[in-house]
Amino acid sequence: MSKVSMGELLRDASRRGYAVPCFNAINLDMIRGIIQAAEEERSPVILCHAEIHFKYTPLEQIAPVMVDAMNQAKVPVSILLDHGKSFPAVMKAMHLGFNAIMFDGSEYAYEDNVRRTSEVVKIAKALDVSVEGELGYVTRPKSGGAEGEDDDSITDDTTLYTDPEQASEFVERTGIDALAAAFGTVHGVYLKKPVLDLKRLAQISRTAGVPIVMHGGSGLSDEDFHRSIDQGVAKINYYTGMALKVMDKAKERMIQNEKKLFYHDFMMNVILDFQEDAQGIMRTFRSSGKA
Ligand SMILES: [Zn+2]
Repeated sequence: MSKVSMGELLRDASRRGYAVPCFNAINLDMIRGIIQAAEEERSPVILCHAEIHFKYTPLEQIAPVMVDAMNQAKVPVSILLDHGKSFPAVMKAMHLGFNAIMFDGSEYAYEDNVRRTSEVVKIAKALDVSVEGELGYVTRPKSGGAEGEDDDSITDDTTLYTDPEQASEFVERTGIDALAAAFGTVHGVYLKKPVLDLKRLAQISRTAGVPIVMHGGSGLSDEDFHRSIDQGVAKINYYTGMALKVMDKAKERMIQNEKKLFYHDFMMNVILDFQEDAQGIMRTFRSSGKA
């Protein structure tokens, strides 16, 4: 199966009532664990690299590894630049073989967001690259550990949520394939119990007419995920939960292991830990068995 356009993956998810998991993969171990999980579960998957993570792994170094993983996979895979904010990052990702771009213009005023997103879509369409845009703002509070600079109190600000009427116009004017919407999710670790505005999500999904993307998938209940999928979410971004869980396991293993510990043994265990967590996510998002 290997390379499939993200637009196609998400349309199938919308039709069949599941969400395609989108994992941030910042090194080879994560990529291997996630692809192994997808093949084991027969799940379509999106591997992504966020511009905010370029400081850990340069795009130029990880792109060829991601492209190879996509081309070799036995299940449908798409690779996405996550939260592309700068024009050079977006152009470079397409040039290096990414077949999907999440262009994040959410920090700009509405008209500016429309203009910048449309510009990206115009180029992407010519190259068969899918584009996800963001309207409204999914917050990134400082204490949540997701490289955020937002004040923690920002998570209460419902004025940042996506406006359903504006969503319809935004999709029409920009030509995006998928819309990242704000309806109560948060990037990083949730500082308090999440409350999702599912009524708004249902409205956005109806007016937007394209698959909806949920950012901030770490810390929601299975019920939250299922209800969101039922209301039109077809792609869920997930990273923080996995990054923490895998490290907790690694810490435990190091404490328990009194013998000599070689890096390669540690590495192979970590790949399996990523795989295990990703498989659980695929079952929760109902993408298992859909490839
Ligand atoms: Zn995000």
